[in-house]
Amino acid sequence: MIIEPKVREYICTTAHPQGCGESVRRQAAYAASKGEITGAKKALIIGCSTGYGLASRISALVNCKAATLGIMFERPANEKRTATPGWYNTAEFEKLSGEQGIYARTLNGDAFSREMKEQAIEAIREDLGEVDLVVYSLAAPRRTDENGVTWNSCLKTTAAPFTEKSLDLRTNKIVEKTIQPATEEEVQGTVKVMGGEDWADWIDALSAAGVLKKDAVTVAYSYIGPELTYPIYYHGTIGTAKQHLHQTANEINQAHPDIKAYISVNKGLVTQASSAIPIVPLYFGILYKVMKKKGLHEGCIEQMTRLFTEKLYGKDVPETDENGFIRMDDYELLPEIQEEVNQDWKAVTTENLEESCDLDGYWEDFYHMFGFHYGNIDYAKDTDPVIPIPSLE
Ligand code: NAD
Repeated sequence: MIIEPKVREYICTTAHPQGCGESVRRQAAYAASKGEITGAKKALIIGCSTGYGLASRISALVNCKAATLGIMFERPANEKRTATPGWYNTAEFEKLSGEQGIYARTLNGDAFSREMKEQAIEAIREDLGEVDLVVYSLAAPRRTDENGVTWNSCLKTTAAPFTEKSLDLRTNKIVEKTIQPATEEEVQGTVKVMGGEDWADWIDALSAAGVLKKDAVTVAYSYIGPELTYPIYYHGTIGTAKQHLHQTANEINQAHPDIKAYISVNKGLVTQASSAIPIVPLYFGILYKVMKKKGLHEGCIEQMTRLFTEKLYGKDVPETDENGFIRMDDYELLPEIQEEVNQDWKAVTTENLEESCDLDGYWEDFYHMFGFHYGNIDYAKDTDPVIPIPSLE
């Protein structure tokens, strides 16, 4: 099969196996450039196959030499259709772990379900005994809870309708977008999916099964962002869910004094999850331009390698702010960065888009997520889309 990108608005419906492999190798090479540290030894990564979770798994392997059990929700290929990028990323990740002689196993299915938690506990018991790190990096549109109720998340404001500039990703034009406020039910649904309830369920289940090492660390990823995006993000449905996640860290710490739960507030980046948020991609495009100009831009792997090697490990206690949050958005929120972003935001139009928005950078990250636009991959070559993941065989 000749595999080409098929882009529909903010999603690409195909993925390239060698290209995704290249993306994993490049991330591993970056992590290796930061050296080895004493950190996690046995890690469970929930949401391990793309974005921040994949980068965490790579840093755990490369920087900490950790054995990893990963949980993901991905689709394999068939003769007609490519697999999802997370499938190919994970196949390459397991290859990389195998080359280093380090354990990696992956479970594919619904992390929100009781069955998946039981499978993970069984796998830890069989292979690892216990884990000393649990990364919670799920981004999902819906969740069926343990009572069989399905909740949907949405990306809306919670106050009055909000109108702002937005980038139409189909035409690369600046348009105005109005986001309607969510209903009570929609807010509740988003909190059920993207809040902390399932993270707490995971920790309760792992702890009750005795597979959490004493002094284990668990970290969940959040985003706050600048005031500019508060109406759609932090004060929107998703931000309400993130505030619930933050509260859950406190609850886990109270319920499980033997372990430590942290929130890592990460930088805004193009991932499959974030491309779907209205208004935010334009902010990312402008942010990328300003941060690259100042030499401060980071992608998922730069963020997660810095988290592992500088903030989470290597000190007596992780480096946190007054709320107990690890701030990986420290560079993004520097006043000099945000002042320039604000000026560019006010000035940006379709005509001057290229000057203030890193459109090329945005699209490069987008295509790279699906394994496309790598100079060293021959995309004209006939490619077998069916790639096995060793531990799922
Ligand atoms: P992503 O879409 O790249 O990754 C999501 C992961 O979750 C994938 O591994 C996917 O397989 C897995 N997943 C989804 N539904 C699942 C299910 N039901 N069962 C098992 N696995 C499932 O997303 P991302 O952007 O890396 O986001 C990860 C976390 O980081 C989220 O909590 C997100 O809010 C947070 N975050 C993202 C950004 C950003 O700008 N992208 C910034 C800060 C924080």
